[in-house]
Amino acid sequence: MQPTATRPEDRQVVHIDMDCFYAAIEIRERPELAGRPVAVGGRPGGRGVLTTCNYEARKYGCRSAMPAFKALERCPHLVILPVRFDLYRAESARIRRILLGYTELVEPLSLDEAYLDVSHRATPAGALAGEIRDRIRAETGLTASAGVAPNKMLAKIASDWRKPDGQFEIRPAEVAAFMESLPVRKIWGVGGKTAERLGEMGVETCGQLQGIGVGELHRRFGKFGVTLWELCRGVDRRGVNPDRERKSLSNERTFGSDLADIDQGQRELAALVGELAGDLAAKHTDRAVRSVFVKVKFADFQQTTAEQRCPGPQGEVFEALLEEAWMRGGGKAVRLIGAGVRFAPRPPDGGGQQLELFG
Ligand SMILES: [Mg+2]
Repeated sequence: MQPTATRPEDRQVVHIDMDCFYAAIEIRERPELAGRPVAVGGRPGGRGVLTTCNYEARKYGCRSAMPAFKALERCPHLVILPVRFDLYRAESARIRRILLGYTELVEPLSLDEAYLDVSHRATPAGALAGEIRDRIRAETGLTASAGVAPNKMLAKIASDWRKPDGQFEIRPAEVAAFMESLPVRKIWGVGGKTAERLGEMGVETCGQLQGIGVGELHRRFGKFGVTLWELCRGVDRRGVNPDRERKSLSNERTFGSDLADIDQGQRELAALVGELAGDLAAKHTDRAVRSVFVKVKFADFQQTTAEQRCPGPQGEVFEALLEEAWMRGGGKAVRLIGAGVRFAPRPPDGGGQQLELFG
């Protein structure tokens, strides 16, 4: 019998992250491309954004979520291939079956990433991670990197440390020393904005962040401040949840001064939609979009959301939704705009759904 949950203090988590997954699959299918800079994504004529680049392409500065034309400026001989989600989903399902052979506690983050809680296994987690990577390579011909740590945040950071085809372990006794010099933007949940605000406080590393009291963090960052106080010490209480599934993805912006003009609102919205499309292309290509929505918060903090069924982040649909939500304010100024998509539930076998991200 496997336990269904573990206590934070004796947890052992492995984060498996496939190395440039889509590109690696394509290169495996077309060995003549080995050694050449390869990207997946984009559309003919240098339009669209890239979803994955191999390491040869990254040497030229090409990155996922980068517009294809920009990548071609940096690397004119870049091979850009169309995405084949059916193939990637099938490969992901194969890998998931391998992972489930080690524990039932597998939490997929996307097609190419998952957390495993291996606390109940007798084999040390580091050895187990090595076994899993060998097995993935033997069965799929693809390489994976692994992070091993006492919690999810650290395991994910660790899997990035020896990429590609590498593995890194942070043992409980090493956590304190590891956190000391870790940049704050590596902390789970800390985005550009929070990192910037911490920078203004003179805080660049987790060690420096540890010098700030929980009261002050709460005052500045609200509830997340308290979590931050723990995370910067390497404490992350989130369990590995095999049933977790992201239901939506959104971006929002609060304006320095409220907007009274809807044209200005539309310009802000267009930027938010652009970021959203980039995030979708980079990280959520395995999910089908069911609807899109626009959230508006007015100067008096009342808020409203307009939503419409739609298979992808289409600019015109967002524009119409903003107009609808804006009108509901009856002329009130707007302090925040958000743009998002809601996903269709993932089918149990992880396949068979239509993907129309950029319809
Ligand atoms: Mg990956």
